[in-house]
Amino acid sequence: MYGWNGRFLRVNLSKMKAVAKEYDAKIAKNFLGGRGFAAKILWNELKPGTDPLSPKNKLVFAAGPLTGFALPSSGKLVVAAKSPLTGSYGDGNIGTFAAVQMRKAGYDAIIVEGKSEKPVVLLVQDRQIEFLDARDLWGLNSFETESNLRRIYGPSAGVLTIGQAGENLVKFANIVCQEGRAGGRPGIGAVMGSKNLKAVVTMGSGDLPVAYPKELKKLGAEAYREILTKPPYAFWKKQGTMMTVEWSQENSVLPTYNYREGVFKKAEAIGGFAMEKIKVSQRGCPHCNMTCGNVVKDSYRRESELDYENVAMLGSNIGLDHLRRVAALNRAADEFGLDTISLGNVLGFAMEASEKGLIEEKVSWGKFKATNALIEDIAYRRGLGNMLAEGVRFAAENIGGNSSRWAMHVKGLEITGYDCHAAPAMALAFATSSIGAHHKDAWVISWEMKVGRERYSEKKVDKVIEFQRIRGGVFEALTMCRLPWIELGFELEWYTKFLHAATGLEITWKDLNVIADRLYTLIRAFWVREFGKNWTTEMDVPPARWFEEPLTKGPMKGAKLDRAKYDVMLSKYYRKRGWDERGIPTKTTLRKLGLEEVAKQLKKRVKLYD
Ligand code: SF4
Repeated sequence: MYGWNGRFLRVNLSKMKAVAKEYDAKIAKNFLGGRGFAAKILWNELKPGTDPLSPKNKLVFAAGPLTGFALPSSGKLVVAAKSPLTGSYGDGNIGTFAAVQMRKAGYDAIIVEGKSEKPVVLLVQDRQIEFLDARDLWGLNSFETESNLRRIYGPSAGVLTIGQAGENLVKFANIVCQEGRAGGRPGIGAVMGSKNLKAVVTMGSGDLPVAYPKELKKLGAEAYREILTKPPYAFWKKQGTMMTVEWSQENSVLPTYNYREGVFKKAEAIGGFAMEKIKVSQRGCPHCNMTCGNVVKDSYRRESELDYENVAMLGSNIGLDHLRRVAALNRAADEFGLDTISLGNVLGFAMEASEKGLIEEKVSWGKFKATNALIEDIAYRRGLGNMLAEGVRFAAENIGGNSSRWAMHVKGLEITGYDCHAAPAMALAFATSSIGAHHKDAWVISWEMKVGRERYSEKKVDKVIEFQRIRGGVFEALTMCRLPWIELGFELEWYTKFLHAATGLEITWKDLNVIADRLYTLIRAFWVREFGKNWTTEMDVPPARWFEEPLTKGPMKGAKLDRAKYDVMLSKYYRKRGWDERGIPTKTTLRKLGLEEVAKQLKKRVKLYD
């Protein structure tokens, strides 16, 4: 095989053993890499009902066939496991040297199983695997852990760590690297913590197998040049995703006061232009010339890397209008290894619950110091923080009242930074995303604003599926960043050319879409297998707030979603995906995608139709 190393590294922490094994080439061709590999491995190897925080869960670090080559935005990997937050398949991607180094060490994925008796660091240095005592690192935050390891292994080593949140099994703990790049929203950091795995260090010195090296090198150089010529490039370099704050405000989709509103009075104070004034440098993922991490000094003069999601969620959504303070909360979250999106979501929920008298604790909108202290309590699971550490779904079930109507999640995963009172296609995208509410699979909201936000059309259903294929399927399996394409208009044809030069295979976009459908359907099967008879179409519906409580401010005042029309869109979505009226893949669809084995297993849990 070219492109792929053809080898997975399987690590058993209970036995302190690691074995490298070749995998079937069919897996590469059918699932590509990244999310595709993770979904296939977790489907094959986890029994339904596995406790996500038990040694039986598996933690997968998976890259794609282009990872590690000098190609735009190709330095990413996917981290995946059964999620303790949602109870089903969960993953996230991270831009990290660990991706490049893992591939150069000769592995397309690392699968971690079991549990170490004491804290360890897994060191993967080409064929040499070591388990290092990490008792001295346990209790340190993610930045301290990384800098300790970097002192030993140098600046180019790949280092992935957890902070105290992962150690304390916070259900939305993530995995952090390079002081602010993070991934694994659905609690993949907690899975790592449950295995007593404090960090993974990867170092590789090998060459990646490539079919046409000269062609790939030439293509890479052309592609980097092409990115520089794209008209939005110059402004992107100034603001990156931070420009979205102003855009969201203009379009009434900026999450504000726990998604009650889509506009924030002080949006300007936390927007892209405000950020430009305090920016001190820019960081990015390996092999990327778009470097979108805007580094600012926070209110304690520490560096903090901002992007739209963390500013929207830790700014307007909790009523905080001071950017350096938002940056300080963001820095705290990164240090503890807390997902900033879920964090902003649970904080907004707690503030609303306090305002409504549903909890005894006083948690007020926009209060910086108290919020900073509450973040620490979440990371250490103290007091109210202990309940919030379980995620917003659990918190709502716990405090009762009608709070589940405004607990902003889908399938247990907190919604990201877009209010959808007046964005039905984006609401559908959130509701049908493969890991719970996340924008990465189908960020259709910008397109939706252009085509008419009030419509519930079939075209919108098609767009959600199209984007889920490209973004949630192909980019996540390639583990390449979607931003060159979606933000700058870097053409999709580049990727099939890259694949041809790297693998020697003629893979068309039609083929890639089939792979995307395969992995999307497999992940859906994973959800259905987990929930069995408890699986319901209500799991594909966004929070009640968007249907029941209209916006009270801004140009979209009075807007809310229409449940009957939403349901029609959802039915069309199922039909187009080849899933039945319950949202369960049919036998025919599974067969068509080469997932006959999946059908056999699924049949034991639910009735399958043709
Ligand atoms: S655009 Fe941003 S997120 Fe994407 S690879 Fe570059 S630095 Fe990373």
